[in-house]
Amino acid sequence: MKIEKNCAVTLRYKVCDIAGKVLEQSSEPLAYLHGGYGNLFPKVEQALEGKTSGYQTTLDLSTQDAFGERDESLAQVIQKSDFPPGVKVGGQLQAQGPDGRARMFTVTKIKGQSVMLDGNHPLAGKALRFSLTVTEVRAATEEEIAHGHVHGAHGHHH
Ligand code: ZN
Repeated sequence: MKIEKNCAVTLRYKVCDIAGKVLEQSSEPLAYLHGGYGNLFPKVEQALEGKTSGYQTTLDLSTQDAFGERDESLAQVIQKSDFPPGVKVGGQLQAQGPDGRARMFTVTKIKGQSVMLDGNHPLAGKALRFSLTVTEVRAATEEEIAHGHVHGAHGHHH
């Protein structure tokens, strides 16, 4: 069947930067509910609309169409003494962002007593190249549509 609103689509994907460096690769296929539920970037859904199982494409997304520009106000420096012992580069913690909402911050650098945190998505500020292969298309169940996501092997687990 063709991909249209309320289809459950399974795909394999690879994300590279525009120079071709691999940033993320699916070890397992990904299943998502198609039709503007916010599960994939709109540009990716547009490219898959009307396609069938076996379709392959490579898609370049601008920064704006992917994770957006970096927000430098989300890069913060905190004193090491404010952390529990064992803070490490690459560690993540939840903290309040400038908008007052909780978000994930990643420790990007530790220099002396200063710990640098970054609340941007690791791929923010980057144009991305997606390579996609559609492996399965089926009609979503009513329950999946009500939840806004796909259940089952490669979908959402409750
Ligand atoms: Zn669900």
